[in-house]
Amino acid sequence: MKNSDVLRVLLAGSSAGDRQWIIELLQSGSSWRFEFLESDTGEAALRQALLPAGSLERILLAAPLADMDAMRLLDRLVDPQGITPCPVVVITPGNGRELGPVLLRAGAQDYIGEDWLSPYVLARAVDNARVRWAMERDLCARDDALQRSEAFARGVQRLTQTIIDGAGALVFAKDLEGRYFLTNRAWRDRAGLSEEQAAGITDEVVYGPQVARDLRYNDQQVLASGRLIVAEETTYRQGQPVYYLSSKFPLVDETGRTYAVCGVSTDVTSLKQAQAALQARERELQTLADNTPDILARFDRQLRHVFVSAAIERMTGRAPQEFIGRTPRELGMPAGLSDCWENAVQAAFQTGQAQTVEFNYPAPAGLHHFSGRFVPEFGPQGAIEHVLGVLHDITEQKRAEQDINRLLEEERHYSRLLARMAQASRKMHASLSADEIVQVLTQQAREILGARRAVTRLTLEAPDERTLQAVAVADDTPPTDPPPGGTLLAVPLTGQGGQQIGIVQLAGGPYGEFTAEDRAVLMQLAAIASTSLENACLYASLREADHRKDEFLATLAHELRNPLAPIRNGLEILRRSGQLTGPAARARDMMERQLAHMVRLVDDLLDVSRISRGKVDLRLARITLQSVVDNALESSRPAIEGSGHSLVLQLATQPVWIEGDLTRLAQVVSNLLNNAAKYTPAGGRIELSAQAEAGRAVIRVIDNGTGISADMLPRVFDLFAQVDRTIEHSQGGLGIGLSLVKKLVELHGGDIRAESAGLSQGSRFTVRLPLAGPPGHAAPSASENGRTGLSAVPCRVLVCDDNVDGAESLSLMLGLLGHEVRTVHDGSQALEAARAWRPEVVLLDIGLPGLSGYDVAQRLRAEPALAGVLLVAVTGWGTEDDQRRSAQAGFDYHLTKPVEASALEAVLACRRPAQPRAD
Ligand code: ADP
Repeated sequence: MKNSDVLRVLLAGSSAGDRQWIIELLQSGSSWRFEFLESDTGEAALRQALLPAGSLERILLAAPLADMDAMRLLDRLVDPQGITPCPVVVITPGNGRELGPVLLRAGAQDYIGEDWLSPYVLARAVDNARVRWAMERDLCARDDALQRSEAFARGVQRLTQTIIDGAGALVFAKDLEGRYFLTNRAWRDRAGLSEEQAAGITDEVVYGPQVARDLRYNDQQVLASGRLIVAEETTYRQGQPVYYLSSKFPLVDETGRTYAVCGVSTDVTSLKQAQAALQARERELQTLADNTPDILARFDRQLRHVFVSAAIERMTGRAPQEFIGRTPRELGMPAGLSDCWENAVQAAFQTGQAQTVEFNYPAPAGLHHFSGRFVPEFGPQGAIEHVLGVLHDITEQKRAEQDINRLLEEERHYSRLLARMAQASRKMHASLSADEIVQVLTQQAREILGARRAVTRLTLEAPDERTLQAVAVADDTPPTDPPPGGTLLAVPLTGQGGQQIGIVQLAGGPYGEFTAEDRAVLMQLAAIASTSLENACLYASLREADHRKDEFLATLAHELRNPLAPIRNGLEILRRSGQLTGPAARARDMMERQLAHMVRLVDDLLDVSRISRGKVDLRLARITLQSVVDNALESSRPAIEGSGHSLVLQLATQPVWIEGDLTRLAQVVSNLLNNAAKYTPAGGRIELSAQAEAGRAVIRVIDNGTGISADMLPRVFDLFAQVDRTIEHSQGGLGIGLSLVKKLVELHGGDIRAESAGLSQGSRFTVRLPLAGPPGHAAPSASENGRTGLSAVPCRVLVCDDNVDGAESLSLMLGLLGHEVRTVHDGSQALEAARAWRPEVVLLDIGLPGLSGYDVAQRLRAEPALAGVLLVAVTGWGTEDDQRRSAQAGFDYHLTKPVEASALEAVLACRRPAQPRAD
């Protein structure tokens, strides 16, 4: 301290005198400049001492105080470390020997007994106190720093321990003898040891000698090299290896001496396992890549191969290594192929989308077809790292596709061919004309086989035993062109019996030559045509036979009528003569019945043949169902009653109008009634109903007779159909009746239906006809007319028939009826007799020798003298045609043999007024 500096003395003492005395002593004994701050109480002294120091150095001189002793003062002045805020010198009473050391311990820097007060002592005490206070403070500050650094060191140690304990890895340090002196919690947990147990333990104890040797070897490496090493170390837990990646480094003291090995070991077992699994997977993938027939190639962004599978070698003959690091172009791939691949790879990189391409690769072994798929491979960050190409060889698939397409094309060709053949076949089968069939064959054969020209020649025995000649030519060569060259194809047309019936020839095939297939097709067409031709011939002959049958039936019926006429006349004569009685009369009746039956059979036969030939004209008129029933009953009642059947009638009370031919419809119902009577055992029951039902006129004939079996039912309406020949025989039918009935009903626009529950169950026949409205005016039908107004007025009748019996019997009957009769047997005689005798009526056969009945009639009509004569044709020919012809020839009436007496009478009643006799 420089003496120029001022020392502030805080002077405390109760006595002002003492304070003054002390000031003087100090000023006199010291070279210091002093500034004195006096206080007379302890409290005031404390306040001053505890005030901040300011720039002046201070010292407290404490003389005895009334309010507090020095110990108390010090006690309140010292801080926790026992240091006062400024140096303190205590002036004690007496010599202060006892109190002095106590004061010093309480924090005072010095003391002076009052007894020893002198300027020198006081100045020296002040100086000592200042020095000592400064030393104490220094000491205290150092102590403080030491404590802080110790606390810091402890903190660091705790932090270090916390860090290494918190580390997942094993952290440890071993001394040069391999004794662990530092371990973290992970290490201890792994070893199953507490901190105390771990301290000083060795690897031998922890891991056993074998593992310890390996671990120690690594430690030695560290010690020998003085550097950090990283090594993989393996220990075992419950027999299972646990792998560590250990970083080991030496610990060196401040002198540079290595005193320990420190290590940090990370458990990499899972990593190792994952690595092993990854490697296994890679091996699998490699095996897959090596063995898949597909070629796998991975590309980088520069389009270079980074991987190719072994399959590439099989295809290119180049080892996979050759590809790595090079682009397809650099590898010398054909330009088109390089473009194709590189474009696909680039597109996959740019778009992130898989690309599919197909390409051909000219492999050394030949051209291969590939389907390639280029797939982007994304890295963990989502960026495309590579593009993987999977190239699939589709050569075989392509070949199969081509085969299938070829087969399909063939299939289509054949189905077109078949369709055309089927069409040709239909056309030929549908045709019944040989000419047409030959035309179709020729045309279709040329078209189907694509030939320029086709010719068919036919030589076929026709049914009329003429040889049918037909030739057809189909040609698409212009007439100016020379005939088509190339091969010819000729196939015979063969009949069922193997005989050749013609030949079809083709020239100018589409490709020059005809193939075996063309020949097969032509043979098939020829076979179809042959069958069609034979069918056409068969049909023609059937039609011919059918025609002849109808002709024969018509002739037969006509010829049968001739002998019937005299029989009927004869029987009528017998009846009218009234001479027969007893058995003879019964025999005559029986003969009449049988004759009626026979006449009906002949009529039916004729009708059927006429309907079949379309030669029946209906005489349509507005008639009632009731009139039909009446007419039918009139002819059938005898048959019904003759068999003792009961007849139940159910007829509409109101007239039911229909448009029909009364005679024909009566014939229908009568036929049904006759059948019912015929096929029902005697004493049966027959029901006849006729009424309007659901807008139709319905006639039902029901019996409880023999019935019809199910298999026969559908055929009862066929011509000549009979259930049982033996029954037929006994019943005397021909199997014509129902056929005729059906045809007549259908001619009327109606239908008929047969029903039966089976044999012995009876039968039901239902006829349905269209209804008609009632007529505007009632016009009596011809037949009704014919039956009315019979007249017995005698007249002159000339009979002309070349059938002598017929003529005679008719004359006899007319004579019995009271007429005057002359008989001739040919036309000339008839003309002669007519001119001479002037008959009122001429009954004239048509089929006469020499002049026919028509000729005679025309001539008679030409003679004015015979103008009024009634000309009646009496003939076996009874068709509408015949009737029309007779009317044209001048006949007034046309009667069909055998003529019924009543019909004859009706006609005679219509004769013209009597002519004056010539004779
Ligand atoms: P036909 O009576 O002359 O033999 P049809 O054509 O009238 O010929 O009848 C054909 C066949 O139908 C008969 O032979 C008979 O077997 C059977 N038939 C017809 N009507 C009846 C009926 N009412 N009951 C049983 N069978 C019948």
